[in-house]
Parts: sequence; structure tokens; C-alpha cells
Amino acid sequence: MFLLREAERCLANQKTYASLNAFITPLKQAGPWLDRVRDAEARRGTPKSAVDGKLVAVKDNICTRDMPTTCASRILDTFTSPYNASVVEYLEEAGAIVAGKTNLDEFGMGSHSTNSHFGAVRNTSGPGGDAISPGGSSGGSAVAVSTGQCHAALGTDTGGSVRLPAAYTGTVGFKPSYGLVSRWGVVAYANSLDTVGVIGSKISKIRHVFKIINRPDARDPTTLSPHTRARIASKVSHSRSQTPLRIGIPLEYNIHELTPCVQAAWSSSLLYLQSLGHTIHTVSLPRTKQALSAYYILAPAEASSNLAKYDGVRYGTRDTNAADNNAGGYLYASTRGTGFGDEVQRRILLGAFTLSAHAIDNYFIQAQRVRRLVQADFDSVFRLENPLLPPQQPSSKKEQTQVSKKDSGVDVLLCPTAPGPPPTLESLEAASSVEMYMNDVFTVPASLAGLPALSVPVPVGTEGGEEGTVGMQVIGQFGDDELVLGVGEMIEGMRG
Ligand code: GLN
Repeated sequence: MFLLREAERCLANQKTYASLNAFITPLKQAGPWLDRVRDAEARRGTPKSAVDGKLVAVKDNICTRDMPTTCASRILDTFTSPYNASVVEYLEEAGAIVAGKTNLDEFGMGSHSTNSHFGAVRNTSGPGGDAISPGGSSGGSAVAVSTGQCHAALGTDTGGSVRLPAAYTGTVGFKPSYGLVSRWGVVAYANSLDTVGVIGSKISKIRHVFKIINRPDARDPTTLSPHTRARIASKVSHSRSQTPLRIGIPLEYNIHELTPCVQAAWSSSLLYLQSLGHTIHTVSLPRTKQALSAYYILAPAEASSNLAKYDGVRYGTRDTNAADNNAGGYLYASTRGTGFGDEVQRRILLGAFTLSAHAIDNYFIQAQRVRRLVQADFDSVFRLENPLLPPQQPSSKKEQTQVSKKDSGVDVLLCPTAPGPPPTLESLEAASSVEMYMNDVFTVPASLAGLPALSVPVPVGTEGGEEGTVGMQVIGQFGDDELVLGVGEMIEGMRG
């Protein structure tokens, strides 16, 4: 009765922690899902997969046939998708059960899960039980995991939305390399950055879910083909004979906003890895400073284009109170004006401006250039060559740099996930948009480069003497997802 007991425990926790608002659509007390847990229980000797009969929560911007998909927006408050997203389909085929749809920042836009039409997600794990930020935008998924309301959860990470919530809730959050996991049925925010990620209490659970969703999908042409996957795997395995690992510390991440507890966690995790025999090396990623600005040009630009379809005619809940319900102009404006929240409207305006004829050269095009430079920065520090780049021409000079990179390049980077601990929800009320965007400074570079990145909790003593955790981020070369998870597992060892 193991699976049934686990499912009942999750269900009970969903009730106990209902006030945290982690779910927009929680599980129903009884339903066909219970029979599916019983079926999985019956085949426990020969399970379909490691998640057979387990409850996996799904962020509410990932389509599900049996539950609504709202993206935490008023404009989709009555929407139920006629199909499952590929990732949901894969998980269900493997026997997993959707544990409910989790709350988020509207359409994934935000860093604290406060921009939701259904109310903010609450995180009470801070000292004194004050409501603190659960991180965003996958804050509902992270709180669902941290309070035992599900076995593991799916989130989406465009600029840090899986890693930041993991860091703020003491859970593990993994954003795989871009293109490994299908986005078919995932409501688009910024297509070139959106990545489905996994949140869990331990890396082993993340591995189980990732193994099922990490596959090509003919319905999403941006997923990597089997041929490309095989090529990447052979390049990665070639370089993996070297131990100990070379761990890089990016100098530019040592900013003055880093709080002492984050600094302490960074040092202690580096010392710990060193004690395991790995070596530490400082590296420079000079374009890090520009990455945040570039992200906040590119993501809103893609968003403004993606969200143009919600007009109340073909997509989205129509504003039936519009002054002139028959004349297209009013209908369209008032549907979008009342259907989208403030932050989404801000991003649409920003994106429409940066794409406009007189601004595109100075904003969008420049930001694309910065994005390429950020990618080049990462490529210049990793020992493993980016497997997506065309094979190097054999010229003696290039061979020399390759040889020297084999000796001086690093295998992974280790840096904090966020500059400080989670702010209180109260302090966020007075925060400006730009202050909120600043929280993503350490997560967006890996997003711009499409690299695998993981946030893993590291224990620290807090001011009150209590044990807390700070999220540390492991970033790897494109396709080196296994190594990133492996280093995360080593760091998990710090918690005993
Ligand atoms: N906080 C970032 C933003 O608002 C990242 C969000 C995300 O990764 N979905 O765009």
C-alpha cells in the first residue's frame, strides 16, 4: 500500500497547506486518479517507470486535458486544453499522475509568484514563519514540493523560473539544456528561452522525471533529433574520462549585492568540492553584466508577439462588458486591458516598443548580439567544446587553443542562484519592477546560452542560529546535463 499511502499523504498536505495557494487546481478528493494509483500499486513488482503511481504537480502554463490551464491569467480563466502537452503525455504513459496545476506569475512573468490572477503563492518557510517570496515564476511548483503536496513538479524556466523558486524554498530545481525537452503544449512566453524544468526534494527524484521527458518530439521542431542527441552524447562522453573535475568560479558573479549568508554558502560548497579532490579555478565571463539587460529586451519582445493572439475572438476570455461589444476595436482593447495583469501589460508594451521600426536596431538587434557574446563567454571557459558549434577546422593555431583549453578549461561553473535570501512578501509591495528584475541576474546568462543549470540547497546558519539553506547554481556546457546533476549530487552530500 506504499503508493496509495504516499498519494494520500500528498492529498492531505494539499488540504493542510491550501492557504499557501500553491495550486490553482488541486487534486479532487476522489477521482479516476485514485484507480490509477491502485493499478500502479498492483504492478509494483514490475513498475512502468520510477514514477509509476507517483503524483507529479504541473505548472499551470502546461496544457492538461483533464484540468484547466489558466497561466494564472484572467484571460484564460475558463480555458481547458483539448490535449495534453507532450511532457504530460509522457509522464502519464510512464504511470505518473497529475497532482494538480500549480500557481505561477501570469504567463511566467515575474520572480516572486505574486503576479497571479489567483493571488500570490505564500512561502512560510522563512525564520519566524513570515510570508516570504517563494521565487517565481514556478513558485507554486516549488512550494508544492517543499510542503510535500506532490512527489515532484514540472515548472518552466525562461530566465530562472525553476531555479529561483528552488533556491527560495530549499528544493532542487533543474533547467535542462534547451531543446532536450518538448515544449509542445507549453504556453509560450519567450520561445527561444522557454525550457521545461523539474523541481524535487532530491536530485534522484529529478532524474526519474527528467529521464521520462528527455526525448525528441516530432511535434516540437526545436527539440533535438535522435541524430543530434547521439552526436552530443559521444562528444560529452569523450571528455568525461578526466577526474578530478575542474570547477569554475565566475569572477563577475562576486557582486557587492551578495549577502553574507550567500557568500558563506558559496565558500563552503567550494571547500566541500575541494575536499572531495576537485580543483577550483577562477574564470571570467565579462558579458555577464549585460546579460540581464539583454534578457529583459528579448523576453518581452518574444512575449509581446506570442500574446498578440489573445484578442477575445479567437483566443482568450472575451470581455462581454466592453462598451461596444460588436465593434472590433473596443472589444479587443477592453478584453486585453481587463484580461492581462499589470506586469504582462508592461512586458507587452516594452516588447512592442523594442520591436518597433525606430527602436529595433538599438534594442532588439543589440540584445541579440549581447546574447551571442554571452554564449561565446561560456564557450571560452568550458573544457568541453560546445557540441552545437560546427566542428573546428584543423588549423595549427586552433589546435593549439584547443590543447590549451583541455588543460585550462573548466567542467562546470559554481555560483549562487540569487544574490540574497528570499525577500518578505511585504517588502515586495514597495519594490519597483527593476528591483524585481535584478533578482534574475545570476540565472539569465545560462538561459540566454541554453545551458543546463541546477539550483541545489546548501546548508547555512542563519542570524537566529537556525539552519537555513541557500541555493547554489551548477552550470554546465550545452548537453552536459548528466555532469550538472552529478555535481549537484556531490553538493547534496553536504547535507549528510
Ligand atoms: N523572472 C523572469 C521573468 O520575469 C524569469 C521568468 C521565467 O523564467 N519564466 O521574465
